[in-house]
Amino acid sequence: MKKATKRDVEAIRTLLLERYGEAVSELHYTNLYELIIAVALSAQCTDKRVNLITPALFKAYPNVQTLACADLESIKSLIQSCSFFNNKAKNLLAMAKRVVEVYGGEIPLDEEALITLPGVGQKTAHVVLIEYTGANVMAVDTHVFRVAHRLGLSQDESALKTEATLTKVFKTDLHRLHQGMVLFGRYICTAKNPKCESECFLQSYCKSKESFKAR
Ligand code: SF4
Repeated sequence: MKKATKRDVEAIRTLLLERYGEAVSELHYTNLYELIIAVALSAQCTDKRVNLITPALFKAYPNVQTLACADLESIKSLIQSCSFFNNKAKNLLAMAKRVVEVYGGEIPLDEEALITLPGVGQKTAHVVLIEYTGANVMAVDTHVFRVAHRLGLSQDESALKTEATLTKVFKTDLHRLHQGMVLFGRYICTAKNPKCESECFLQSYCKSKESFKAR
């Protein structure tokens, strides 16, 4: 598949920022505690479902201290409609305990510390930093991965390598480009039946649209 040229990259950046420059995450949260939980739950699960689950969870456990003392079965029952809820419940409990025991109840806001929290990998840490601090970092979920490949921005096989490539290719505005690529992938460049003809504003830069035509 063809690679995006430097000119393509700059045009894609401009168009994504024009359309999504002010976009924010569709996850509902009011503070860092709620954000990190919502992001952790959103792995392999839709934001829509996470937003249905979190109100009751945040009501039962409104902060990291209460979550650290929670009963595991109770967390499981509150998040059971989420994919991988058993593991996610265990990780949420362990994450809260570690924040209380090691970080004095304050969720740390640097990547090295964040990735020591159970269930928080590099992608989750980056999404939290993007959302909460506007950090110039990239995070690659299923939407960003697909969009990056269709637009010829990356030919990497893993999400982490794609993240490194996108960081190198775009260099700046990474947090806003991340949000833009998520929304573009979620609503326009969808996995099945992407809206190439009707809605795509990046069609001239697409390297794979032909494979979605005339079926
Ligand atoms: S033309 Fe289609 S496949 Fe290509 S970027 Fe646009 S929506 Fe995605």
